[in-house]
Amino acid sequence: AGGSCGSRNLIFNGTTEEVKKIVNTLNEGKVPSQDVVEVVISPPFVFLPLVKGSLRPDFHVAAQNCWVKKGGAFTGEVSAEMLVNLGIPWVILGHSERRLLLGESNGFVGDKVAYALSQGIKVIACVGETLEQREAGSTMDVVAAQTKAIAERVSNWNDVVVAYEPVWAIGTGKVATPTQAQEVHFELRKWLEKNVSPQVAASTRIIYGGSVSGANCKELAAQPDVDGFLVGGASLKPEFIDIIKSAE
Ligand code: 13P
Repeated sequence: AGGSCGSRNLIFNGTTEEVKKIVNTLNEGKVPSQDVVEVVISPPFVFLPLVKGSLRPDFHVAAQNCWVKKGGAFTGEVSAEMLVNLGIPWVILGHSERRLLLGESNGFVGDKVAYALSQGIKVIACVGETLEQREAGSTMDVVAAQTKAIAERVSNWNDVVVAYEPVWAIGTGKVATPTQAQEVHFELRKWLEKNVSPQVAASTRIIYGGSVSGANCKELAAQPDVDGFLVGGASLKPEFIDIIKSAE
């Protein structure tokens, strides 16, 4: 599996001026070509047209969410069809903030993944345990249940990237150790091998997210089952370019 690097940036407090500055920095960054590392930038919905229109052509754009089925009278939601209409090729689904703060269940996330794929949108599907779940020893049960809800609804995994994001590592500065990340990525791949197919297990990219930085990315990227990163805070800083390079 090739390297992959998602950036979920400007989480909720970006301004147009800040977006323009970040895009300029990204556009100037020297990074490996897109057949070596695929870079996907994911701003909030309102900035998607601006970012899509000004971002270098070798970087791609993702939405941070979309509606679970065909668009219609769902006030406040953004449909997969709208993303297609805007030419947005990727969407992040099942981020822990949506699961935990917005009450999205495993099944609902699975439905979203299946619907987005049916519209030709590629999906970064997030899974991960809370600190409480880790301490109770249920990390793999939680991650397997989240992945199972997707596997039950999806038959073609070509356009799915799985992002393992332990909730306790997101935005906390408490990154998973390379061993912790590798352990879950390995188990996830084994789960895919057993429950989907060896081919899907081998070819699906499993990326890590949660306090990834310029300082810790190399060691994480060196783990055999870590295929890239989903970056939050550090994607707003120049060190994001170093993180992209580490996924080479
Ligand atoms: P941080 O990199 O800021 O921990 O955020 C991770 C994340 O949630 C990316 O989606």
